[in-house]
Amino acid sequence: MSAKYKIENSILELAADDITRQDTEAIVNAANKALSPGGGVSGAIHRAAGPKLWEECRTLGGCRTGEAKLSRGYNLKAKYVIHTVGPVYSGSKSDPEDLSECYKNSLLLASRNKIKSVSFPSISTGVFGYPIKEASIVALKTITGFLKEHPEIELVRIVLFTEGDYGIYKASLDKILKD
Ligand code: ADP
Repeated sequence: MSAKYKIENSILELAADDITRQDTEAIVNAANKALSPGGGVSGAIHRAAGPKLWEECRTLGGCRTGEAKLSRGYNLKAKYVIHTVGPVYSGSKSDPEDLSECYKNSLLLASRNKIKSVSFPSISTGVFGYPIKEASIVALKTITGFLKEHPEIELVRIVLFTEGDYGIYKASLDKILKD
């Protein structure tokens, strides 16, 4: 299941799939502050990349909420992993600001490293408890806004782990593009 949209000169794609299998130059990890493997999408990325990923992550000095750090992709198809730490949902107004920073700083890091294609998971909507509909609007508004100003990023793919999550992101994007 997938859908493609044109945002200025870039492509924004939604896909129901596993992020570890994506062939974009970079995939984004919904990491923790220690950049340790952990569970969820981070555990899956570390398993697929192999132990060298954690070896490199240990040298990166951790990651603050909203920040993004770059590593190689090792056994992944993607050459790079961009690690970012989403907010733990609290219901405060810093939640959408922090979540937006994750997407923006990941894309800025990609741009600075001449990475043209990036796959994102749905950051913070697993263990970190962010309601997915609200999170999808923050994610999609940030990404579409960024692409309008950064044509050097050619493709952003948001990879949703379930068809239910895919449907929520698709409804949000259709609404944002209509408004
Ligand atoms: P967070 O701690 O930021 O909430 P999680 O890993 O718990 O991160 O969940 C983030 C999202 O990633 C959830 O929507 C979860 O369903 C999804 N997810 C888990 N594994 C994968 C995977 N292999 N590919 C894509 N998405 C995944």
